[in-house]
Amino acid sequence: MVKERARILVVGGGYVGMYTALRLKRRLRQELRRGEAEITVVTPDAYMTYQPFLPEAAAGNISPRHVVVPLRRVLDGCRVVIGEVRSVHHAERTVTLTTLATEDEGTGPQKLSYDEIVLAPGSVSRTLPIPGLAEHGIGFKTVEEAIGLRNHVIEQMDIASSTRDPAIRDAALTFVFVGGGYAGVEALAELEDMARYAARYYHNVKPEDMKWILVEASDRILPEVGAEMGRYTVTELRRRNIQVLLGTRLKSCKGRVAVLSDGQRFPTRTVVWTAGVKPHPLLDATDLPRTDRGRLRCTAELTVEGHAHAWAAGDAAAVPDLTADEPGRDCAPNAQHAVRQARVLGDNIAHSLRGEPLETYAHKYAGSVASLGLRKGVAHVYGRKLKGFPAWFMHRTYHLSRVPTFNRKARVVAEWTLSALFKREIVSLGSLEHPRAEFELAAGGKPPYEPPHDPKGSS
Ligand SMILES: Cc1cc2nc3c(=O)[nH]c(=O)nc-3n(C[C@H](O)[C@H](O)[C@H](O)COP(=O)(O)OP(=O)(O)OC[C@H]3O[C@@H](n4cnc5c(N)ncnc54)[C@H](O)[C@@H]3O)c2cc1C
Repeated sequence: MVKERARILVVGGGYVGMYTALRLKRRLRQELRRGEAEITVVTPDAYMTYQPFLPEAAAGNISPRHVVVPLRRVLDGCRVVIGEVRSVHHAERTVTLTTLATEDEGTGPQKLSYDEIVLAPGSVSRTLPIPGLAEHGIGFKTVEEAIGLRNHVIEQMDIASSTRDPAIRDAALTFVFVGGGYAGVEALAELEDMARYAARYYHNVKPEDMKWILVEASDRILPEVGAEMGRYTVTELRRRNIQVLLGTRLKSCKGRVAVLSDGQRFPTRTVVWTAGVKPHPLLDATDLPRTDRGRLRCTAELTVEGHAHAWAAGDAAAVPDLTADEPGRDCAPNAQHAVRQARVLGDNIAHSLRGEPLETYAHKYAGSVASLGLRKGVAHVYGRKLKGFPAWFMHRTYHLSRVPTFNRKARVVAEWTLSALFKREIVSLGSLEHPRAEFELAAGGKPPYEPPHDPKGSS
């Protein structure tokens, strides 16, 4: 029996937010029915993004709609608020939040009270003060970025195909990715594979005209699959003519020229930044303890240290890794931990409300799978190392088993089956980013490009 009415607030609708709310729905079914508990989820988007599928979405193998899960549908019975928590005052048990209506209302952020809070705002790209990065860099964490990048790559091929200026053509066909973790390697490998395929439909762009470059500061890539499989990935990418530059940093991308620490310069219109993540900046606006890396300092029971009614997990939380060989290590920020932590977190909130003892979180990292393009991959899972087609097949079956809801699984399988039967989609819908442009022009707006004024008036 829980106390009078427990108001549970979940901040974030990603892996941790969605799975915690689902777990709570199941564990507190009776209490929710009797009105003794309520679950509110605050999240900026009405969907959860299955991030491991973003590289496949960028390659066009899965539609953007199918890599996201509609929260209102799966969290039926919870209050889903589309908004952003701006600050957390745990001492008072309140948060401030803005919603889509805040600006129109002109009332400023609203206050929301809670009894239990789950902090799961995840992480954001960890950037560095590199000249030109803020203006020209492209991130790869959201579905909008993945689809934007796909459109951008195809558009660059179109620019290269239509220009007579070799410098413009060269810059358009140079693609620089910074950071060799799974997001960077998979995004580059999938997009290169897609662009190589698309090149067969261009009369004047060949795969060997394109320069794909991976810049990594350390001496290895894909640490998630271990040293041996990381070395295999370097060899495999280089065999595909991709330049893998280890022990190298991006120093500047000002004026659309990527300048590297080894002195190389690459004029380019594409710099994709996937050099790691840092905890979400919302955590700066809380009164809760944090580590020197900015994650919330948590216990193995997933409470925030010293605060019984504040809970956290996933990328935003430093949860002790009880299975690590060296003591004092925290769980790495990845989906494998996020999903499992969310289940324990949901159970522990239910235990806490009922006055039962809490469970501790312990999970030994099982390894990772990565796709390197259609029918190519690398994997190191439970001590088994796989490469090429078997690894790629494992990547697909693993993620299919993990993507939430039967509905999504069925749609993803249908898409994979269709793309195996028919040719790949190579169309760029760049104008989706400016859907009103055509109508504005028709209604008398300025054209996006006006030809230079000819002083002689000749035509
Ligand atoms: C391209 C890519 C590929 C990946 N592939 C893998 C993989 O193969 N295997 C693996 O284990 N991991 C992978 N990861 C990492 C994995 O996706 C993350 O570790 C996981 O998403 C972390 O879960 P989370 O719930 O902490 O954060 P997220 O899933 O990022 O969720 C955070 C949520 O909080 C919301 N939010 C942000 N700010 C606020 C606010 N102010 N108020 C309310 N809500 C807010 C966000 O909109 C989002 O919904 C990948 C990541 C990327 C980017």
